Amino acid sequence: MRVLLIGSGGREHALAVGLAADPSVEQLIAAPGNPGIAAVAELRDVSAADPAAVAALAVETAADLVVIGPEAPLVAGVADAVRAKGIACFGPSGAAAQLEGSKTFAKDVMAAAGVPTGRSFTCTTDTEVAAALAEFGPPYVVKNDGLAAGKGVVVTDDRAAAEAHARECGRVVIEEYLDGPEVSLFVVTDGTAAVPLMPAQDFKRALDDDEGPNTGGMGAYAPLSWAPADLVPRVMAETVLPTLEEMRSRGTPFAGLLYVGLALTSKGPKVIEFNARFGDPETQVVLALLATPLGELLHAAATSTLADFPPLRWHEGAAVTVVVASHNYPGTPRTGDVITGGEQPGVIHAGTARRADGALVSAGGRVLSATATGADLAAARAAAYALVEGISLEGSHHRTDIALGAVEGRITL
Ligand code: AMP
Repeated sequence: MRVLLIGSGGREHALAVGLAADPSVEQLIAAPGNPGIAAVAELRDVSAADPAAVAALAVETAADLVVIGPEAPLVAGVADAVRAKGIACFGPSGAAAQLEGSKTFAKDVMAAAGVPTGRSFTCTTDTEVAAALAEFGPPYVVKNDGLAAGKGVVVTDDRAAAEAHARECGRVVIEEYLDGPEVSLFVVTDGTAAVPLMPAQDFKRALDDDEGPNTGGMGAYAPLSWAPADLVPRVMAETVLPTLEEMRSRGTPFAGLLYVGLALTSKGPKVIEFNARFGDPETQVVLALLATPLGELLHAAATSTLADFPPLRWHEGAAVTVVVASHNYPGTPRTGDVITGGEQPGVIHAGTARRADGALVSAGGRVLSATATGADLAAARAAAYALVEGISLEGSHHRTDIALGAVEGRITL
């Protein structure tokens, strides 16, 4: 089949590597792509969040399947426009993508479906914000209600900082703090049938020991040897299936990738957030371990045939990815710095560009993610950090403790 992949980040590079390795994918076209994706796909230009433009490109390239990576095009209704052309599309409708597009909408669906999650209030005024912060006490969790590229959340003990974030955002969801290790679970669904992938853990804070501000994610690993054995079936039964049923009953079935961000609290797994697409950088590690052909899996979800899909197969061992970020990220990142070592196998491009003279340069906050597998987590971790050592980017920073707690058996439930 001919596959058109929409997006240009690390998630899309990981998806591109997975799709290119699937023998059923005869041709892979990525738009707009990035210099890393260019090694495995033909690149086309497109305004990714423009439904008409993406649909026209899908027709022009005679795509059999369109895979939409990022959330902004999904929320903008790009999947609807592609499907309206009669082309199979992996990614939820604009209406269903509101599970990510609005935290208030997601909370409303969770309440209706009886999904375990933190108590919350949606607030628009200083008075409402003050009342919600007082109700929950510190640590305060304040979330931008709309899309914020994974950076709309502030978790802080500093009440003034919580209030300042609420004021900046305008409309926020203020939520009870959920204590416990975090897990990301990706679920491929056609709206009815649902197939969980392997749970992964990401690292949201910028600095080692979970210090510093929240980021889009600084690294990830899988599998989670410390997770309870019943985690996935429990989350499927308590959260995923009721949510899919609620979305169907609203007339807006969710088909695509449901990302369930969980905190494993003392009272069981509770939802921190839903996303409507693969998470970055967890995708890098989950897909590195997936042995099932990715294109076939996504095509089954896009054509409502997932119930007949064979059980997933996984590679033995573990995977780790370490994000190399620009100077000053997650503040306004410095860009245009020359990268060396960016073309090694396993190095996923997230924010890179090709300069006119051919040099690879930084072009975003998260620039690369060094991804490696190994026979066990310690070996995968060592291999990922060896890749990082081979990368040079002036002013860059990365965490040195990705997967370290799990390797050392320090994660407690
Ligand atoms: P989100 O974008 O909703 O995933 O939030 C980003 C990060 O903020 C999460 O990965 C958590 O580390 C943290 N966070 C969000 N909501 C909560 C919560 N209710 N309790 C504790 N931490 C949270």
